[in-house]
Amino acid sequence: MIKADLQWLTTVLGVSPTGTDSVDLTTAIGEISTDSRAIKPGQIFLALKGPNFDGTKFVAQVKDKGAVAVIVESPVDTDIVQFVVEDSLIALGQLGAAVAREVNPKIIAMTGSVGKTSVKEMCAAIMSLKGSVLATNGNFNNQIGVPLTLLRLEPQHEFAIVELGANHIGEIAYTTNLTKPNVAILNNVAEAHLEGFGDIFGVVQAKGEIFNGLTENGLAIVNGDSEHKDYWLNKLSAQFEKVPGRVVEFGLNAEVQQQDNGITATNIKLDKTGCASFTLQYQGNSISIDLTLPGEHNVKNALAASAACIELGATLEDIKLGLAQMAAVQGRVNLKPVSDQVLLIDDSYNANVQSVKAAIDLLASYKGKQVLVLGDMAELGHESTKLHAEVGEYALNKGIHQLYSFGVLSQSSSDVLKSKGIHFSSKQALTDTINSYIEQQLTEQPNGNITVLVKGSRSAKMELVVEQVIADN
Ligand code: ATP
Ligand code: MG
Repeated sequence: MIKADLQWLTTVLGVSPTGTDSVDLTTAIGEISTDSRAIKPGQIFLALKGPNFDGTKFVAQVKDKGAVAVIVESPVDTDIVQFVVEDSLIALGQLGAAVAREVNPKIIAMTGSVGKTSVKEMCAAIMSLKGSVLATNGNFNNQIGVPLTLLRLEPQHEFAIVELGANHIGEIAYTTNLTKPNVAILNNVAEAHLEGFGDIFGVVQAKGEIFNGLTENGLAIVNGDSEHKDYWLNKLSAQFEKVPGRVVEFGLNAEVQQQDNGITATNIKLDKTGCASFTLQYQGNSISIDLTLPGEHNVKNALAASAACIELGATLEDIKLGLAQMAAVQGRVNLKPVSDQVLLIDDSYNANVQSVKAAIDLLASYKGKQVLVLGDMAELGHESTKLHAEVGEYALNKGIHQLYSFGVLSQSSSDVLKSKGIHFSSKQALTDTINSYIEQQLTEQPNGNITVLVKGSRSAKMELVVEQVIADN
């Protein structure tokens, strides 16, 4: 948060404070928070309202905690400075955008069905070598999380790395216009969150909204491997006729490799832990890169992140160093060796069709027996059964040795593998089966390797399976 007072709030919100007899507009304000439990003296409480909750109920409580003022949608009968706004969510957006304008960092925003957080962490790791960085915390990427992220900006921040997500059309158009990125990355689209978008084209459009907020002469970074890229490139050329801007494609296909300003990777190799090394090629320059995150999909994420960071002044050496220093993100392809022969891969953080396929590619690259443990993929709408079967088919074609599914939706994944697939509705039974499979394999082949990759949507909480298998072995 920046240094501000009640006058600043009055100006940004466009309403005068009420609720007390006299207001001293020069009163300094602390952080603006939507969480009544976290309010500290001097802070501002913004009361959000939704179908199942009403923040105004906590106004008396935040007053007792020392809040200086509250932002509410209707006046509250409590003696505290109140800014009564039409819509508190919009007010939150206005405040976040105002802070971003005042701090004025160079901003990278990214969206996509998968890999947003991975790309964000990569950008943050690289740009931290160049100056002070603020990045989205965790998954604060929606219409509430994005303004809360912008509100965390402080005067020293030179760069902001902001993740934009959506579960309906229009959400990214809104958050990108608050953020006004200098660089906007469209990483990919997949059958994720179809429920809010209708069909895949709804997702293509929704992700394309990220470019709406691009600053003048900003850089759009587009996935040149995506079958939907022409839609985004056409949208951008129309946009650039009104507000000038530039575009760079990243990808691995021959077309991108031949482009003068495309960013691409050659010599991709996976080491025995599944982490990739490659040669990054950009505008006639190249450098060798070693990733600390496993999976070939992270090569593409790294290309997108690199193009963005180069635009903000990173050199190829900064990129190499930043990516090499990156720490793994909790629950995203975390390698957890159980013994010399048994490797557990904890990818329990989330799952959708594209990320499960990427995980299967990774799993298939390990020698020895490969076991996929798949919890339900949530939010797939009426195509859920078909899409679960599709990833089962994918695992079958890649020669995965066992697929254990868990939940209520994922049975159609394991069914595809016939005798090599088993469905579970109890995590205990699932863990017992994983343990006895490991035991049996090691008895049959004492020197063999076994890799177990655990994945599922957030709601499936598959990390519990990971923890149990580690505890048991
Ligand atoms: P969320 O929608 O939950 O915020 P996200 O877009 O931030 O997800 P990540 O958290 O980076 O994505 O990754 C989620 C999962 O997708 C991980 O399991 C990761 O292995 C996989 N993944 C990451 N990048 C890609 C990619 N480019 N292609 C396919 N799968 C990917
Ligand atoms: Mg994320």
